[in-house]
Amino acid sequence: MRIIENAFGGKKVASASPRTANVFNPATGEVVAKLPLSTLDEINAVVAAAKSAAASWGATPPMKRVAPMFRFKELLQKNADAIARAISTEHGKTHPDALGELQRGIEVVDFACGIPHLLKGEYSRNIGPDIDSWSDRQPLGVVAGITPFNFPAMVPMWMFPVAVACGNTFVLKPSERDPSAPMLIWELFQEAGFPAGVFNVVHGDKTAVDALLDHPDVRAVSFVGSTPIAEYVYTRGAAAGKRVQALGGAKNHMIVMPDADMDKAVDALMGAGYGSAGERCMAISVAVPVGQKTADRLVEALAPRVRALKVAPATDPESEMGPVVTGEAKRRITDLIGAGITEGAKLVVDGRDLVLQGYENGFFLGGTLFDHVTRDMTIYKQEIFGPVLSVVRAESYDEAADLVNSHEYGNGTAIFTRDGDTARTFADRIEVGMVGINVPIPVPVAYHSFGGWKRSLFGDHAVYGPEGVRFYTRIKTVTARWPTGIRSGAEFNFTGRN
Ligand code: NAD
Repeated sequence: MRIIENAFGGKKVASASPRTANVFNPATGEVVAKLPLSTLDEINAVVAAAKSAAASWGATPPMKRVAPMFRFKELLQKNADAIARAISTEHGKTHPDALGELQRGIEVVDFACGIPHLLKGEYSRNIGPDIDSWSDRQPLGVVAGITPFNFPAMVPMWMFPVAVACGNTFVLKPSERDPSAPMLIWELFQEAGFPAGVFNVVHGDKTAVDALLDHPDVRAVSFVGSTPIAEYVYTRGAAAGKRVQALGGAKNHMIVMPDADMDKAVDALMGAGYGSAGERCMAISVAVPVGQKTADRLVEALAPRVRALKVAPATDPESEMGPVVTGEAKRRITDLIGAGITEGAKLVVDGRDLVLQGYENGFFLGGTLFDHVTRDMTIYKQEIFGPVLSVVRAESYDEAADLVNSHEYGNGTAIFTRDGDTARTFADRIEVGMVGINVPIPVPVAYHSFGGWKRSLFGDHAVYGPEGVRFYTRIKTVTARWPTGIRSGAEFNFTGRN
């Protein structure tokens, strides 16, 4: 059995923790590795390694800090297949989808290569006689990242390339479910030539998270995961005096207007609803057709496509959708489908009974489609995080927009329409952080920033892009008189600039 190790101070170190967790291959249901749930002492040792590297790394000129980042990018590209295979084995997503997630992570590495430009600061000459003033952005020290299972490569890469390019050292606590991809990425980071202790990985569960949140040497915490844990991390981290950005769950609606190109809308819903088995924080889980005729056309076009979805393990090149991540996730999704039926939604396609020959112990579910879902139903209110799409019928654009605005989550949303006026009103007024117009999954590119609104993000800063740089740096403003030739005596009033 493969045993996953911690990785810090430039070395892999076996954990001595008596507590472990199983890592599954969700396609077969087999345990493929054991993961240590690290002890408090081990977590402290990892933070100490990051701390001992922090001062010299923070003092390294920015251009030198990013020099190995270019090599890191090349190594990621060279090893993309191996990383994608590790993702698919432990997460279940298809190989092209795993490569796509890695590519989105590499784009953040690309962005990080240019970060020196964003650390330049501002300068004001002669703010008083012989006095100049400047502000610059300085690193925080040791920062930590806690990440979810659904993007084991991309989400850590939203964080650590930006943090280290800004001059911080980083401790990653990845998901317990799929740790092998972040470990491969850690190896490539070392090979790229970064000093030991700049990027470190520690495995664990709540004990590890709590230890990082409470540790006085950890200055900031980036979290991505479910909303209850995001809120907990934000509250506990902020109470300990840390900067926290905690990204949570989602319920992303796609409005389909009567004038939308129906074929494109259906294609978009198939990919955004069922890609990666619906386990994306930007997945579309609610379709909102406007008008009964639009709704009938949409459901009629969707149903056969959902029934025909090719559900198969990632090793099958034809697979459109793999299994969900664990047996527990499968049970939770199945229970929610049951709740939808009990509460009166119309089950159009039922994916619960799918069995794949040769993969009977895998965590597979077929695509599921509900129609006539209403806002009081559990399947509407809760994030399902599985291959289940709910159709909520609206009579007007205003009713559709009100649904989006009233939902507790505000991660992503989209509208499909040919009308510029409607699209502009939607973009302008909708209360969601990331908005698509005829684009179902509007994940911002690496030089913008990713973040939802409402209960999809706790904290002030979105991740990566310029917001990431702001989060991982603090501003310092210096006021200097130079030369000191002019003497005007002591000044007792507040202007202080004579
Ligand atoms: P999760 O909340 O269960 O776990 C996320 C991290 O929190 C993991 O590292 C886990 O070890 C840790 N954790 C779990 N329980 C904890 C506890 N009680 N105390 C402290 N730490 C704990 O999330 P998940 O199931 O791995 O990921 C799926 C969720 O992540 C979904 O809700 C999805 O929407 C969300 N997500 C959000 C975004 C976003 O950008 N907003 C991106 C990806 C995923």
